[in-house]
Amino acid sequence: MAEHAGEQRREELAGRLAAVRAEIAAAAEAAGRAAEDVTLIVVTKTWPASDIRILADLGVADVGENRHPEAEDKARELSDLGLTWHFIGQIQSNKAARIAGYADVVHSVDSVRLAGRLDVGAQHHDRRIDCLVQVSLDPQEASAGRGGAAPDLAGEVAAAINGSERLRFAGVMGVAPLGGDADTAYRSLVAMQRRLLVDFPGALVVSGGMSGDFAAAIAAGATHVRVGSAVLGERPLLG
Ligand SMILES: *Cc1c(COP(=O)(O)O)cnc(C)c1O
Repeated sequence: MAEHAGEQRREELAGRLAAVRAEIAAAAEAAGRAAEDVTLIVVTKTWPASDIRILADLGVADVGENRHPEAEDKARELSDLGLTWHFIGQIQSNKAARIAGYADVVHSVDSVRLAGRLDVGAQHHDRRIDCLVQVSLDPQEASAGRGGAAPDLAGEVAAAINGSERLRFAGVMGVAPLGGDADTAYRSLVAMQRRLLVDFPGALVVSGGMSGDFAAAIAAGATHVRVGSAVLGERPLLG
């Protein structure tokens, strides 16, 4: 019975994953890019570790989580899989050091202070972490202090990351504003990365695009897309 359910879930995930991969390849081709230049991060928040095992078996190497300690529990339980763990959610500063214990890439660094906390954690755990600066693609959000650094502060946060002991600035991340124009949002994210590349030649990552808009992100030049529900289904709880 349980085995049957597992087989069914595997078929479901395999089908949706193949469809998403095909859509990524089509979007890349339409943009004159190679499909291999776009990394799929499957966002597994709220879904059980058993789903992540199936995904790993289907060739997924990158997974995204947005909540501590759920992410920590899964990373520990699945440490045998050799996955790259992407932390993509907002980080409370008192959790940053713990997150540095298991995240390989943190997409949501939006302040100098948070970079400092992550570095302390990375030193404590004797780890190195790639960090993306999350930039707000919505001016109203930035002024409210949510959802990323204001664009004119991104360079300062990037410099703090690279000035730390254990963190490396690897690029930028953005979330298109709800109900806004995704094409414009992702084009501005890519433009920001291009500007940062002048001072930070290692800033090669542009993390943009979710289930609803990853084609727009790929058209704009995103190198990493974060796709949850299109692969796993609608989340059982708010995630
Ligand atoms: C949940 C989440 C995603 C994935 O969203 P889907 O719409 O399920 O693809 C991507 N990025 C961030 C920051 C998220 O929190």
